[in-house]
Amino acid sequence: MNDPLSPAHAAALDAADPLRSLRDEFLFPRHQGGDQAYFVGNSLGLQPRGAQAMVQEVMDLWARIAVEGHFTGPTQWMNYHRLVRDALAGVVGAQPLEVVAMNTLSVNLHLMMVSFYRPTRERPAILMEAGAFPTDRHAVEAQIRFHGFDPATDLVEVPPGADGNVSMQALEQALAEHGKRVALVLWPGVQYRTGQAFDLDAVTRLARAQGARIGFDLAHSVGNVPLALHDVAPDFAVWCHYKYLNSGPGAVAGCFVHERHARDATLPRFAGWWGHEQSTRFRMAPEFVPEAGAEGWQLSNPPVLGLAPLRASLALFEQAGMEALRRKSLRLTGHLEALVQSRLSNVLQIITPAEPEQRGCQLSLRVAGGREQGRSLFDYLQSVGVLGDWREPDVIRIAPTPMYNRYQDVQRFVDEVERWAHR
Ligand SMILES: *Cc1c(COP(=O)(O)O)cnc(C)c1O
Repeated sequence: MNDPLSPAHAAALDAADPLRSLRDEFLFPRHQGGDQAYFVGNSLGLQPRGAQAMVQEVMDLWARIAVEGHFTGPTQWMNYHRLVRDALAGVVGAQPLEVVAMNTLSVNLHLMMVSFYRPTRERPAILMEAGAFPTDRHAVEAQIRFHGFDPATDLVEVPPGADGNVSMQALEQALAEHGKRVALVLWPGVQYRTGQAFDLDAVTRLARAQGARIGFDLAHSVGNVPLALHDVAPDFAVWCHYKYLNSGPGAVAGCFVHERHARDATLPRFAGWWGHEQSTRFRMAPEFVPEAGAEGWQLSNPPVLGLAPLRASLALFEQAGMEALRRKSLRLTGHLEALVQSRLSNVLQIITPAEPEQRGCQLSLRVAGGREQGRSLFDYLQSVGVLGDWREPDVIRIAPTPMYNRYQDVQRFVDEVERWAHR
C-alpha cells in the first residue's frame, strides 16, 4: 500500500484527485463493457457531455425562427464568436481583445503570415524548427514562394540534437548566424512528435532581439500547459480546438494577435466583411475599416455549428482552471514516467525531455526493437482497449490529460505493456 507504484496507490491518487469529477463530464469510447484507456486527447479530445445540447440549441433555433436566430436572444448567431472569447482568453492568458475563434489552424497561420511575414531583399527569411508539423512547413514554403523568394535559401530550419530535441542553444546559434536575414520566427509551443515544451518567453526575446517578428503554433499547448500570451507578447499565435480543447473533429480554431497590433489599420491583411468594424459593418460601405483586435482578421460570419461544442468545453476549463489542471498533469505524467522507468525500461525509452518544465502531458515512447516490435505492441494495446497513437517509425505517443484521465488509466497502460512483453 505504501509502494507509490502499486495499483492500490494509483486508486488512492484517483480518490484524492480534486479534479476527479471532471471525468464524468466526458463520453468515453467503450471497450468490452468498460471505458477505453484513452490517451489520444492530443489528437482528438473526447466529447464533453454538454456539447450535444449546445449544437442542438442551434439546430432548434434554426428550425423555429430561422434567420431571426442571427438577432435573437443571448446566443444570437451574429455575435456567436463572442460567446467563447473571454473563456478562450483565460485559457491562453490573453486579453479578450487579443483572441478570436475562427477558421481552422492552417488557414489562420496563412492569414497571420500575410500580416506578419513581410520579407524584404535584406530580410527575406523564415526561421522554424526542422521536423515541424507538415502543414506548418508547407505554409511557410508557400508564403516564401508567394513573395518571390526561395525556400532553399530563405527557409532556415533549426536541427534537433542527438536526443531528438531542439535545444535553446541551437536556436540561439541559428539566430546568431542568420538573425539579420530573418523576417519571421515561427515556433511550436509543444513539439507534436517529441512532446518537448519550449520557454515561449525566451524564444520571443531571442527573436525580437534580432528584429524578427515572432509567431507561435500552439496546437499542442492550448489546454495542455498554462500560457501567458499577453505578457509573453509574440506578434501572433494560432492553434486548433479539437486536441486538448475537446471541441470536436475539425472544430473552429483559435488565433491571437497581440494588443500592440490591435488598432494598426496599416497592416496588410486578407480582409473579409466579418473583420470590418462591428458598429458600422451593416452600413455595407465599400471601404474596409478593421475591427480592433484579433476579430479584425475574421473573414466570414461565424460557423455557428462548428463553434457550439467549444462553449461546452470552455465551461469545463473555466470550472477547473489551467493552474489546477497543470498541477494534476505534472503528477499524472510524472507517475507514468516513474512506472515506465521502473517497470518498462527494457521495452520503452522516453524521448520527451525529463524536466517537467520542458514537456506537457504527453510522453513519446520509443519501442525497443524497432518498427515491427512497435507495431506489435501498438496493435496489442488497441486490442485490449488502451489507445495511444503511432508515429513512424517506432514511437507511441501517450497523452494522459488531466481533464479526464486517471492514475488508474496510466496503471492499466503499464500493466498491458508488461503483459505484452512477457507474452
Ligand atoms: C494538429 C496540428 C495542425 C493541424 O492543422 P489543421 O489546420 O487544424 O488541420 C497543425 N500544426 C500542428 C503543429 C499541429 O499539431
